[in-house]
Amino acid sequence: MTARILVVDDIPANVKLLEARLMAEYYEVLTAADGMTALSICEQTSVDLILLDIMMPGIDGFEVCERLKSNSRTAHIPVVMVTALDQPSDRVRGLKAGADDFLTKPVNDMQLMARVRSLVRFKTLSDELRLRAETARSVGASDLLAPVENGLGEPGLVLLVEPRANARDRITRALSQTAEVTAISDPQAALFDAAEKPYELVIISSLQEDYDPLRLCSQIRSLERTRFIPVLVLAEQGEDELVLRALELGVNDYLLRPLDPNELVARCITQIRRKRYNDQLRESLTMSVEMAVTDPLTGLNNRRYLDTHLQMLFDRSKRRGRPLSVIIADIDHFKAVNDTHGHEGGDDILKDFAQRVRGAVRGADLACRFGGEEFVIVMPDTPDDIAEQVAERLREAVAGQAFRIAATGQDVNITTSIGIASLEAGDSDAAGMLRRADKALYAAKDGGRNRVVSQAA
Ligand code: GH3
Ligand code: MG
Ligand code: MG
Repeated sequence: MTARILVVDDIPANVKLLEARLMAEYYEVLTAADGMTALSICEQTSVDLILLDIMMPGIDGFEVCERLKSNSRTAHIPVVMVTALDQPSDRVRGLKAGADDFLTKPVNDMQLMARVRSLVRFKTLSDELRLRAETARSVGASDLLAPVENGLGEPGLVLLVEPRANARDRITRALSQTAEVTAISDPQAALFDAAEKPYELVIISSLQEDYDPLRLCSQIRSLERTRFIPVLVLAEQGEDELVLRALELGVNDYLLRPLDPNELVARCITQIRRKRYNDQLRESLTMSVEMAVTDPLTGLNNRRYLDTHLQMLFDRSKRRGRPLSVIIADIDHFKAVNDTHGHEGGDDILKDFAQRVRGAVRGADLACRFGGEEFVIVMPDTPDDIAEQVAERLREAVAGQAFRIAATGQDVNITTSIGIASLEAGDSDAAGMLRRADKALYAAKDGGRNRVVSQAA
């Protein structure tokens, strides 16, 4: 996965070193020797990741980071601060400034690649989610473009998989201000627990008794209920092979023992924050998808949804040799209702009509507003004669009780004509079935309206 990375450092040798390493991995590299130049590059071009030195003449790295994160145009660019090893307080300051991660000097190759890869993956995913949410013009999407809040508001829910009791205690204590930690020693039990509870991070120790820690990593990555939970691996010095394999399996980050409590806290915060951000994006995307397939007036599914799902239901019924029926209901003389009671009055009737459609169908049936004053109900596992009963029930529910116009309080009598079609052995697609139902509907209109006609009749 390639990306454009901006390296910011006032010492040319540092820039050259990072540039060479990143280019060897086929990343595109831009460079800047001071903070102001970095900010203007980010304003003018699209950057996927920034490696940012702290000590620089003019504005320092903390301030550059703060400015990037408070500008909605650049807030989403991940920032990795490059800190000196002997300055642990810098990491905390960096995180406060909104940094997404940090690297310590001298920069270790494996760490560099791990952080870069993980952040590029995160950025690619969140860019796509953001784009899709924006495209669908979801209401929540604009909020997500705002700068991300620093730190964690709510403590994170963390699952720690560590067989050794003293290590469990130490880690739980280190994270006590940041997270609620559930510590489990048995990896298999931990996996079940991870699938059950809304964890925001799983920390896996490389030292497991009779269990391959990499297997646990891959299980968490592949299970439907756990695959969006970030994973942090705790490894021993010299376990480079294991760390590299873990990163390939999609583990998000790692730490080497002896653990620096500050770094542990900082890395946990980073992972939890990213998860929350992506969860929010995913949620808003789900919402926008729902909006795209829902008719706003009646709350029923719209025609777009029907078009895809009817074919799916059709294929499934055919494959299983099960019956399938479809009903089209069209309100009689609706134009006259609009003419008499206005368009808003007509809308009142459509809403109430949709309610009556809902009341007539089972949960498994798919009710849609097909367009204007036409409604379609798709009924899986339903033969023609049962569909006729449902249609008759709907017809009665409409004709049997007047509709109320909200603005005037007037009652209006409404009727509906209904056409039915059922799956036949010769049918090759859902559209043919729908056409037959439409024909039956026309026959119902021709026959005097307020009636049900089945294709079979
Ligand atoms: P028929 O019995 O033959 O179905 O007559 P009809 O008047 O119901 O049929 P026609 O197709 O001629 O007219 C449908 C009317 O439905 C015309 C259109 O203005 C109205 N309509 C379509 N969508 C909406 C809507 O969202 N709100 C309102 N109020 N009216 C709508
Ligand atoms: Mg009509
Ligand atoms: Mg019509």
